[in-house]
Amino acid sequence: IILKKADMISSEQRESYIENKKLALLTKSLASNMPGTLITCIVISIILWETVPTNTILIWLSANIIFVIIRYIGLWIYHKGFKANDTKFWKILLFISFIIAGTLFGSSVIFLATPERAEYTIFLYLVAGAMVSGSLGAYHKYIPIFIAYSGTVFLIPTVVLYNMDTTITTTMSLLGILFYLISFLNAKKMNQDLTETLGIRYDNNMLVRKINIEKKHVELLNAQLIEKNHELKSLTRVDPLTGLKNRRYLFEEFTPYHTKLMEKQWMKILGTNKRSSTNYGYGIFMMDIDKFKTVNDNFGHDSGDMVLKQFSSRLIEKVREDDVVARVGGEEFLIVLQDTDKNYLPIFAETVRNYNESIPFNITQDRTINITTSIGFIFYPFFDGFPIKMNFEQMISLADKGLYYAKQNGRNISVRIGCTEQKSSDLKVVDAIASDIPSAIEQKKIYFEISTKRD
Ligand code: GH3
Ligand code: MG
Ligand code: MG
Repeated sequence: IILKKADMISSEQRESYIENKKLALLTKSLASNMPGTLITCIVISIILWETVPTNTILIWLSANIIFVIIRYIGLWIYHKGFKANDTKFWKILLFISFIIAGTLFGSSVIFLATPERAEYTIFLYLVAGAMVSGSLGAYHKYIPIFIAYSGTVFLIPTVVLYNMDTTITTTMSLLGILFYLISFLNAKKMNQDLTETLGIRYDNNMLVRKINIEKKHVELLNAQLIEKNHELKSLTRVDPLTGLKNRRYLFEEFTPYHTKLMEKQWMKILGTNKRSSTNYGYGIFMMDIDKFKTVNDNFGHDSGDMVLKQFSSRLIEKVREDDVVARVGGEEFLIVLQDTDKNYLPIFAETVRNYNESIPFNITQDRTINITTSIGFIFYPFFDGFPIKMNFEQMISLADKGLYYAKQNGRNISVRIGCTEQKSSDLKVVDAIASDIPSAIEQKKIYFEISTKRD
């Protein structure tokens, strides 16, 4: 039922669209046709000036002119915005105005024709016929108006002439009626064609509108999908327990991006032939909570989780916004400080280590424990002269080795990974180290240095 109702509404809308368009077209035709009517009236008056009493002509002519002016005023009011209010009212008014106009023109025969001068009578009748043809082109948009106008313009002269008793009127009248009928049929046909054309136009408009709405809808859905995808993607790169970035983020997003960035910067430096000033770079810190297993064992997994969360917050607290803090293992964390001074690395490592050591962690509402942290850290670029010889992943793995060194040397310390050939300008030496890190460690070219001072 609802669908049927919607169908009815839309077909009603379609019909009213067609009707309104027809009316608009008709008023346009009227506006452009009236000057023609006026000129015809004047021509008739000039031609019949000698034949018919001047007063009669002047009265007829002025009546026609005045009515044209009245209709223009009416059209002006209609276009000023009153049309929307009541289409029916305007249609009726228009209809009446056409009857008046047709009668005013058609009455020319009553006033101006004379039985004695047959040629003028024929002339007037032909003009009336021409008016029918003209109104066929202009007013077929609305059949009642076509009939009102062409009927009054043409049938009044026909009847009058028929009753005037001139020799030619019977034949002429019959031919005239036939002509009128053909015109009427043509008008009907043209009206139907116009209805069809306007209907198709309406359907097209509707289709375009529908497509546009659909398009907007699809665009919206697409945007939502992109956003959801984005959310989903970032969700897979976040550790649910701590809200920190995870290992996946580190190796799939951060590392490739920054490796490229580093290469670009290095190429630029090579291009300008400057020696790189390598005191500024990245600080990479690998951290692990000491003896964390005992926290779980002694106080339960939930307490362990609480510690992990607090530990994460503490790390976040100590870094800047564009630095990276990631949880890369159960209780292993990685921090990348960006744009940082080489000399700041041990200071930062000790700040974090001291913070954790000196301030206890909550494990229940009212219980706290002390835990300590081991840290391995490294500065990137590793070689001053050849920054891209060692990449991010190698740095991370070296920091991990530093962390292992810290664990082996008593825990709760920070360990710096350094290189004896850090300032080397010999590509061969650098290459040898980069391509075989375990040997370089064995040969102590890469070394571990405890940066925690204990007194
Ligand atoms: P070490 O000082 O050598 O690092 O000792 P550790 O006990 O911290 O080292 P280990 O790597 O052997 O133990 C890590 C423990 O962390 C094991 C695991 O039970 C715990 N762990 C890992 N992930 C989580 C977690 O998400 N929540 C909790 N509560 N514990 C976790
Ligand atoms: Mg541990
Ligand atoms: Mg561990």
